[in-house]
Amino acid sequence: MRPASAQDKDSFGGALLEVHDLNVEFATSSGAARAVNGISFTLQQGMRLGLVGESGSGKSTAVLALMQLIKAPGRISGGRALLTGDDLLTMTAEQMRQTRFSRIALIPQGAMNSLNPVLSVRAQIDDLLMAHWEKADPEKRRQHVGSLLHRVGLPESVADQYPHQLSGGMKQRVCIAMAIALSPQVIIADEPTSALDVIVQKQVMQTLIHAQEEVGAGIILVGHDMGLMAQFAHVVGVMYAGRLVEIAPVHEIFSNPRHPYTRMLISSLPTFTTRKVFRGIPGVAPSIVNPTPGCAFRPRCPSAVDRCAVDVPAEELVAHRHQVRCHLAREVAPTSANGAAID
Ligand code: SF4
Repeated sequence: MRPASAQDKDSFGGALLEVHDLNVEFATSSGAARAVNGISFTLQQGMRLGLVGESGSGKSTAVLALMQLIKAPGRISGGRALLTGDDLLTMTAEQMRQTRFSRIALIPQGAMNSLNPVLSVRAQIDDLLMAHWEKADPEKRRQHVGSLLHRVGLPESVADQYPHQLSGGMKQRVCIAMAIALSPQVIIADEPTSALDVIVQKQVMQTLIHAQEEVGAGIILVGHDMGLMAQFAHVVGVMYAGRLVEIAPVHEIFSNPRHPYTRMLISSLPTFTTRKVFRGIPGVAPSIVNPTPGCAFRPRCPSAVDRCAVDVPAEELVAHRHQVRCHLAREVAPTSANGAAID
């Protein structure tokens, strides 16, 4: 796999998806839970954006919101998500139906387990094609299914198999084939390699990159594995308690992380060159219902100062394309990430 850092330049195409101040909340008996709290980012053509964070940080909720797939008692409570100018968040149900897969596609978490066990792979891909290509004849659709499978490295014979006859890696490739079936501008992949062994993980990621490059899409990769992000993403956004606390090009974020949480995530990565004792990040994620004042990371932060208990840190641009939410973001001298670096 080509290291993502080799492409860490302003070399992408125009903006495909511009997310501004996205908010999602869930009604609970104790009050509103702000699962996504004012996140903003831009995805450009050809870019692979990684959204990373621990469980409950809001990353999956954010991408579900982009697809209008938030279910009650959740709701999108603010923001805009412009897909080449069209706001995904205000589209009608019919507009969204037409947009899904044709302009923006989601490979959901656990996608390989969401394949219908009683339908062949061909029938499942064909269902998707028929929903968008009402006038396409069966032969054209049959050829397209074969071509899609070929593009994700599967033989055409897989089309006539059922999910239980396929390995986890093959099922995940089928899900990638479905995601690229209509050449969308944006592909969202939510934990696409979870539950796969490391060899298959790499193959699936290579397939995803190849498919993305073929259709010329931008991609949002959601996950919690900083190592995977280092290899795959051009830009990495770190989420914590519903907020995007740091976002920067991959080489910048690994060589000059400014947020204490990002530094701790990176320092937990093993390296070939440094022997060290690995430590987890102490404490637990805070409640997003009635949060305490100040910075959400303060109870776990080794750098916290008095101000952190009072003021929520604002987003600051600390370097080219590098934004951070931390009161001390400008006071941290550029350092390597505790020995962790991408090769
Ligand atoms: Fe830590 Fe304060 Fe920065 Fe929050 S604002 S991450 S508590 S130093």
